[in-house]
Amino acid sequence: MIFAYFLTLLFFESHGSIICTQMSYKQGGGLEYMAVYVRPASLAQALEHLGAAAGAVPLILAGGTDYYPAKVGKPLDDDLLDITAIPELRGVSEAEDHWRIGATTSWSEIAGNAELPPLFDGLRLAARDVGGTQIQNAGTIAGNLCNASPAADGVPMLLAMRARVELSRVAQAGQIARRELALGDFITGNRQTRLAPGELLSAILVPKPRHAVRSTFLKLGARRYLVISIAMVGVVLEESAGVVQGASVAIGACSAVAQRLPALETELIGRRLNAGLANKAKPEHFAALTPIDDMRADAEFRREAALTLTRRALVAAAQARG
Ligand SMILES: Cc1cc2nc3c(=O)[nH]c(=O)nc-3n(C[C@H](O)[C@H](O)[C@H](O)COP(=O)(O)OP(=O)(O)OC[C@H]3O[C@@H](n4cnc5c(N)ncnc54)[C@H](O)[C@@H]3O)c2cc1C
Repeated sequence: MIFAYFLTLLFFESHGSIICTQMSYKQGGGLEYMAVYVRPASLAQALEHLGAAAGAVPLILAGGTDYYPAKVGKPLDDDLLDITAIPELRGVSEAEDHWRIGATTSWSEIAGNAELPPLFDGLRLAARDVGGTQIQNAGTIAGNLCNASPAADGVPMLLAMRARVELSRVAQAGQIARRELALGDFITGNRQTRLAPGELLSAILVPKPRHAVRSTFLKLGARRYLVISIAMVGVVLEESAGVVQGASVAIGACSAVAQRLPALETELIGRRLNAGLANKAKPEHFAALTPIDDMRADAEFRREAALTLTRRALVAAAQARG
């Protein structure tokens, strides 16, 4: 019966792209359109699909680990643009003044890449805390940013790394137009971003710091894996001759969007790089946070957790490899 109503699939292949149209039988007879699934083999093709779809913009699908759980009990009737077969969107590469994390780079690829410099140590720790192994294999860092959950583990760490996002769209004559935004400007609220119709987040760009770097990430959840964070902190310290030259500290899950703590960062600059940095974190540095009460923790607990985690992270960063 289910077969009769839902499973008529038509496959086409053009220039390496897979296109699949799903139809269903209507009760009174005849066929009706349900959804189209496209898996292009190049960024140009993907952007063409996004740009061509006037009105019904297809939903971009990466690992699907946020998308599919949200569809439980609902019809799978979205037009999908699966971007996981696009080679130029995968992996981490180095340019003169920045690192480039391709949009479909998975958490596992970051966690398992021992060649990344100390700047990435915090992101690698965050990667190991996202879900379990299956989620880390399928889930992408860009998907984590675009989903824009207040509890997204990638956001505070990448804010601390001063990351920018590269957004691509098809321009005139099929050219690709790109624009960049600071991550802090890209995510504007709970599940809200500045991604415009027709755009795709093509890469995350991480500027190279001027000094030696220590970085770390700490997350508090009710248990180690498969849990939504109660609070988390990402820390990056730049250091020269044992003195802090630059600091970024960002807190997640304690406001609609993860936030850096500028007053604390200023306080840390010029201090000796040692465990004493922890004493510089004071409750007033966390005043701008707006934690909520929910089933995982109340707001007051979250506020305290953010302070304690930050102190621990500063000790860990001071003692981390540089
Ligand atoms: C069991 C389980 C445990 C989890 N644990 C954690 C956890 O501990 N920490 C955590 O932070 N998250 C966790 N998650 C959430 C999820 O795994 C991550 O957020 C993951 O990084 C999402 O990536 P994805 O590629 O699967 O995104 P998808 O589900 O494919 O996409 C998510 C959203 O982003 C959009 N999108 C994806 N890529 C792009 C792009 N390049 N350009 C524009 N839009 C894009 C999609 O349209 C969609 O709206 C968990 C999920 C599950 C199911």
